[in-house]
Amino acid sequence: MTHGSGYGQGAVIVCDNLVRIFKIADLEAVALQGLDLLVEPKEMMAIVGASGSGKSTLLNILGGLDVPTAGRAVVDGYDLARMSRRERTVYRRRVVGTIWQQTMRNLLPYLSAVENVELPMVLDGRRGRRGRALELLGLVGLGERVGHRPTHLSGGEQQRVAIAVALANEPSVVLADEPTGELDSATSAEVFGVLRKVNAELGTTIVVVTHDALVTDQVPRTVAIRDGRTSTVTLRRTELDHAGEHRVIAEEFAVLDRAGRLQLPRTHIEALELRDRVRLRLEEDHVGVFPYVTRKLDDAPAEPAGATGEGERR
Ligand code: ADP
Ligand code: MG
Repeated sequence: MTHGSGYGQGAVIVCDNLVRIFKIADLEAVALQGLDLLVEPKEMMAIVGASGSGKSTLLNILGGLDVPTAGRAVVDGYDLARMSRRERTVYRRRVVGTIWQQTMRNLLPYLSAVENVELPMVLDGRRGRRGRALELLGLVGLGERVGHRPTHLSGGEQQRVAIAVALANEPSVVLADEPTGELDSATSAEVFGVLRKVNAELGTTIVVVTHDALVTDQVPRTVAIRDGRTSTVTLRRTELDHAGEHRVIAEEFAVLDRAGRLQLPRTHIEALELRDRVRLRLEEDHVGVFPYVTRKLDDAPAEPAGATGEGERR
């Protein structure tokens, strides 16, 4: 079921009930199972999730490298499930820029840094390539290394060139799949700092898949994916405390999708040994979730000690 077309108006990325099933011989792997996600223009957000939860599958679809089995994915007005081959080529060249974890997947080894950045512009038939490439390498802090080939650059420098390559044709969206996964923490911080600068100065929308707490601590929104669906979202804002110091407040929320589905955290499920079915009780200002305990059916919900939350009212 796909929802009304009004969903996600104004968002630069719209994923509506996205499904991706991989078939190998007789086996089916459901990598995405009805994933909803909206990303606003100029937003920088992170996606986290255990290995195998569907993060790369999602990014491959958003990058135009793979197509969803069902559901809708729209990026900057391009409907990714319905593009012709020609539109797809244009899309990949101009609308999205992608940065992969493996530094060498991002760059051609026999081209210098500046030639690597020029390459997407050559493919797109752009003018003023050298000037723009040098400008972008300056932006990522590699103005002194423009003639170096990737093998003569450190891992962090290679990823900074990769960011410049991704930006070459002024994409609306940059997708980065664990871009700092092969770097030490100091270098990760540098590369991530460059992504933040790009977001702030160019206004490019950035989606980063990462395991790195250092990264997630610095973005206003982190979405966690579990089993091919968004499960929680963490929002961060900065507040001034009593002493006048800036302090980051992070709050985690469960995602409630438009069909009313929500995933309970594993810790909660295990703590109360929830299984198969739960009782829900609507209270004045909250909904209680209670383990199913066999009792007389017309009874009020069973409420073992652990189930009664602090906000509970009678
Ligand atoms: P993540 O990036 O979060 O680690 P992936 O998106 O790579 O997860 O994978 C999600 C699930 O889909 C996994 O179970 C994985 O084995 C499966 N999968 C991903 N890509 C393919 C593929 N090309 N063929 C078959 N199964 C795949
Ligand atoms: Mg992955």
